[in-house]
Amino acid sequence: SSTIVWLRDDLRLDDNPALSAAAAGPDRMTVVYILDEVSPGIRPLGGAAKWWLHHSLAALSADLESKGSRLLLRRGAASAELRGLSEETDAGSILWNRRYGLAERTVDAGIKEWAAGQGITATSFQANLLFEPWTVRTGTGGPYKVFTPFWRSCLAGAEPRMPADAPQRLPQPAPAASGSLPVSDSLDSWGLLPRRPDWSTGLAETWTPGERGAGLRLEDFLDGPVEEYGTGRDLPGVEGTSRLSPHLRFGEISPFRVWQALRQRYPRNAPADVGTFRSELGWREFCWHLLYENPGLATDNYRREFDRFAWQTPSDAELTAWHQGRTGYPLVDAGMRQLWQTGWMHNRVRMAAASFLVKNLLADWRLGEAWFWDTLVDADAASNPANWQWVAGSGADASPYFRIFNPVTQSKKFDSRGRYLRRFIPELADLDDKAVHEPWKDSTAADAYPAPLVGLQESRARALDAYQQLKEG
Ligand code: FAD
Repeated sequence: SSTIVWLRDDLRLDDNPALSAAAAGPDRMTVVYILDEVSPGIRPLGGAAKWWLHHSLAALSADLESKGSRLLLRRGAASAELRGLSEETDAGSILWNRRYGLAERTVDAGIKEWAAGQGITATSFQANLLFEPWTVRTGTGGPYKVFTPFWRSCLAGAEPRMPADAPQRLPQPAPAASGSLPVSDSLDSWGLLPRRPDWSTGLAETWTPGERGAGLRLEDFLDGPVEEYGTGRDLPGVEGTSRLSPHLRFGEISPFRVWQALRQRYPRNAPADVGTFRSELGWREFCWHLLYENPGLATDNYRREFDRFAWQTPSDAELTAWHQGRTGYPLVDAGMRQLWQTGWMHNRVRMAAASFLVKNLLADWRLGEAWFWDTLVDADAASNPANWQWVAGSGADASPYFRIFNPVTQSKKFDSRGRYLRRFIPELADLDDKAVHEPWKDSTAADAYPAPLVGLQESRARALDAYQQLKEG
């Protein structure tokens, strides 16, 4: 018999428990990735995530081959593909690392049940979260709804385990019954890359998908920004954050590896900045905790009273202006253009751009969530909806509705010299450090850059009115 390792959101050899377990055994091994766009409830990937996946799988395939293995690609319903592959390769066991969305868990549970009936061992491992959602419980045994006690409770428990190094050598691939290796799809045939138009140039200039790229990002971060993370993380004009998010999203680096790299670097007396960074990893854990408990997080208001909120349907012109970064508010526009060009946006700017859509334009948060889902390379089934709901006020532990980001105040505070603004809005390059935040006050900007889409004062008042109505019921 042979072993199947089914990779999903864990596209790495380092600290990959399912892969390590198979490598330690005596059997031949089939490593498979299944592009499943048909099982019920699985959210189709957005465009930027597809681009990432293509390159990540290409990198993984090369890494596996360098260790004597190979990556098999299949497309279709995961359960049917795995059944077929088990038969083809006479598999006695199937191993995978756990995932946490309801649709994904349902697929996995179905496969476990089928395997049990066949006498095939199906084993799953913890790999992608430091703290599995069902293990973090309040004093009364329920899930957490507020981040701070959630994270305190995580930190009070056992230290996350040590990561395991990638196996030196991998078992040979298992042959099919015919004697040759099972047939693999070609990655190109999946059509994950954009064509006509190809909008991925800026993504390719910004990122190196795959395990090696992830490791380099971590090194770069530990070599510098981590020590000033507490302040640097708020400044979009400097590289003050790790930029690990897409690598974590696709599991190209293990959160345990990141955690222990910090421990090694600071065995004791870690600066407060390290704790702040750890708590951002904690937000990722918290978002998955929320999604695990609320599988409809991307579609349903966490606070059900928001079902009655009077969102306004934005006009096509308004929505397009927001998508294209032409709202007339430089911080929002720089962010939206950074997103389009690079597939990523700085966190502070994500908050400002999202707040502008849901509060100043009074648009339903789901419209913004969907756009981010399609354009972010780190589009994450838990973090994206959880953060949108946080901004909208409809989420767990959300920002209070009446706290409305002012994009002008924010850019003056966090990008005072306008470095970030000018990088993404070339029309503003010649404005001085004052006018760059409020170009409508400078007549020379008028032709090149749009006038504000809405007034900040009026739109703020309108949002507060809508909230007041909600409260009054
Ligand atoms: P760092 O500051 O270096 O943080 C390290 C890691 O912690 C990140 O890589 C990420 O995994 C995690 N993290 C940090 N902040 C958050 C947060 N607020 N929530 C959850 N995890 C966090 N993050 C995503 O990974 N995917 C998304 O789809 C996503 N959508 C977002 C939508 C909105 C409206 C907002 C306001 C935030 C969103 N975030 C999302 C959270 C955050 O903006 C990004 O994780 C962060 O900007 C990634 O950059 P970084 O890796 O340099 O972060």
